Amino acid sequence: MLVPVSPLDVDVAVIGSGFAGSLTALLLRSRGRRVALVERGRHPRFVIGESTTPLTNLLLEELADDYDLPHLRVFSKWGTWQAHRPDVGVGLKRGFTFLFHRLGKPFEPTPDRAHELMVAASPNDRVADTHWYRPDFDLALVDAARAAGVEYFDETRIEAVHPEAAGIRLAARRHGRTLDIRAAFVVDASGPRGFLVNALGDGGTAPRWMPPTQALYTHFTDVDLWESVMPPAGQPPYPPDAAALHHIFPGGWIWILRFNNGITSAGAALTDPLAAQLGIGNGGAAAWQRLLDLLPSPREQFRRSRAVLPFVHAPRVTFRTRTVVGPAWALLPSAAGVVDPLLSTGFPLTLLGIGRLVKILLETPAGPARDERLTGYAAVTQAELDATEHIVAALYASMADPALFRRLTLLYFAAASFSETVRRLGRPWLAPGFLLHAHPTFGPELAACCDAALQLPVGRARQVLFDRIARAIEPFDTAGLLDDRRCGWYPVLASDLIAGAERLQATREEIDRLLRLLNGDKETDAGQRAPARLT
Ligand SMILES: Cc1cc2nc3c(=O)[nH]c(=O)nc-3n(C[C@H](O)[C@H](O)[C@H](O)COP(=O)(O)OP(=O)(O)OC[C@H]3O[C@@H](n4cnc5c(N)ncnc54)[C@H](O)[C@@H]3O)c2cc1C
Repeated sequence: MLVPVSPLDVDVAVIGSGFAGSLTALLLRSRGRRVALVERGRHPRFVIGESTTPLTNLLLEELADDYDLPHLRVFSKWGTWQAHRPDVGVGLKRGFTFLFHRLGKPFEPTPDRAHELMVAASPNDRVADTHWYRPDFDLALVDAARAAGVEYFDETRIEAVHPEAAGIRLAARRHGRTLDIRAAFVVDASGPRGFLVNALGDGGTAPRWMPPTQALYTHFTDVDLWESVMPPAGQPPYPPDAAALHHIFPGGWIWILRFNNGITSAGAALTDPLAAQLGIGNGGAAAWQRLLDLLPSPREQFRRSRAVLPFVHAPRVTFRTRTVVGPAWALLPSAAGVVDPLLSTGFPLTLLGIGRLVKILLETPAGPARDERLTGYAAVTQAELDATEHIVAALYASMADPALFRRLTLLYFAAASFSETVRRLGRPWLAPGFLLHAHPTFGPELAACCDAALQLPVGRARQVLFDRIARAIEPFDTAGLLDDRRCGWYPVLASDLIAGAERLQATREEIDRLLRLLNGDKETDAGQRAPARLT
């Protein structure tokens, strides 16, 4: 039984000290708020979700600049990370590599690279994206939050939640002692199927489009380079393994993310029938081997590998809550939903949400005006998760049709690169909504193309969809995505950006300035923003 103790009064209590909780706490604290950060576990610890994108890093950079946190900004690029925080493990991500396989058959290279897709996200290593080695990265963020004055309680179990007139009271226990936190507001950053969802009995909602999927994953050593299994024919836009490497096959996919400390994160997301066939719920290592036995070329890549942690089986990946906000509380997007990591969308969705929520809490005192803004935050969170789920489900439906899968991903890459570039140009209003889903022309076309793909089109309907995707992309293509001569290899080229200046409503001078900023790369310490997709 809890004995009464004098309460700790804070403006905000954040539940969960993953990267998202620590970052939220740090931002609020940097603006003078009293913040408690409550974690049930202890750092460093293994957690999944590692691969970033240009938008993830731009959002991190924007938050670091907006809240005057230069020590956070260094984590937004491989080069500055290496220069300033070599103690924090990280992986180099130059782009997205997709390789398409048929079950039971070795990978088949073709002259037109029909079974490959490589989309570069950066022109060089210095400004490249990263994979976060979460044991180190999350610890670095929690340390930064503590150093800023956030009250941190790890190994703490919240035993009761009491709504009060002026907020929420959390009754917790840490190392056998009671802890009483009186918070004017609670942010739930405890991840999917997290704290408040359970406390409030929110059973979640069924996915609208995604098939049921399961995941099996761990960290390995001695995973060979794909390049050594299948040397590229020609000069690819970046080394294929310096990427989020995806092996796609009917019924699922494998991710491979390499860190600079000898560890490689790998795992598979599988639709239920394939997961059941492989028995992934009963014994990780054996099921992983059974999966590799269906995929001769990836099996070759894992020939010498060794799992360094136990396999984790996630019996259900996709998850959505019914509610996102309530009286004096809000869920971060990562607590409100998970779709599937196929397009590394978890981090940018979460960072967008953190930016919005922290602004609301700082700008609007408790009361009807804040409640109205929180309702808006909830609606945007749900809409962005919907848009993400729609395109990922369409990709799942086309895993046996590499040409269609490749074409559909271009919707994602066009939206992502356009959004990032207009943000960097200081015109974010040109790209409304994550993946442009709220854009008056692109948004409806994105939804219609996803719907069409979910119908598994063949023959003429399939060709109509190919053409429709091309028409949807064309006004937003600043990366040469519709140039079929590239045969699935998309480097980052200055000429594409220059050609896309009109689409970006940018002058040639503005484009040149972006190019100079990147190529000079003096921006990292000076605090200016550089375009990550230029050369
Ligand atoms: C298989 C898989 C792969 C993924 N890969 C990617 C990827 O490559 N890129 C990407 O962008 N996204 C990816 N995601 C999504 C990504 O994992 C999440 O967006 C991200 O981890 C969210 O971070 P977080 O800090 O909100 O939550 P978490 O990292 O889950 O951290 C939550 C913290 O809350 C703590 N906690 C939980 N319950 C309580 C409680 N009751 N009290 C106190 N503390 C509590 C936990 O101990 C933990 O420390 C992936 C998701 C899955 C399922």
